[in-house]
Amino acid sequence: MKVKPSDKEAFSRMGPGILTAQGFLGIDVRPTEEIIVEDEAAFARLGLDFEQVADELDRLAEEGAKGLGEPIKVGHLLVQSGDARGMLPCPWNDGLFHKTAVSIRPADLPFEACVEGEDMLVYSELSIHLLKAHHFCQGRGSPFRLEPELIAEFLEK
Ligand SMILES: [Zn+2]
Repeated sequence: MKVKPSDKEAFSRMGPGILTAQGFLGIDVRPTEEIIVEDEAAFARLGLDFEQVADELDRLAEEGAKGLGEPIKVGHLLVQSGDARGMLPCPWNDGLFHKTAVSIRPADLPFEACVEGEDMLVYSELSIHLLKAHHFCQGRGSPFRLEPELIAEFLEK
């Protein structure tokens, strides 16, 4: 990717305690542009489209909101909407997004057996925006990482 000054500025806001307590990189030691480039490659390899995935995650979040905090079944997935209030700015400074987190997991897997990042995806309005506008799935170990393999597994059926 061609790193623009606005990207550089955004990358400087990714660490913990700047925009969010945990930041966006988790335990990932790769530079942000490398994370983006590698996830773009993974999307291409898996036949995923950033726009389509973002729209689908958006749709699942809307369905999940109907559960009012309780998990509800949407197709083969369980979708649960959180109730966090407040807004978060995008590191690229191009918008404010609701903090409310949504989790999705296979409906046939007991919650106790679920490992976050392996069997469960957690995302917010900001995660969807980061995916759609910046192709940024966040770093490995970030609770909000949108792992491409997991997206492919959840959204294919
Ligand atoms: Zn943005």
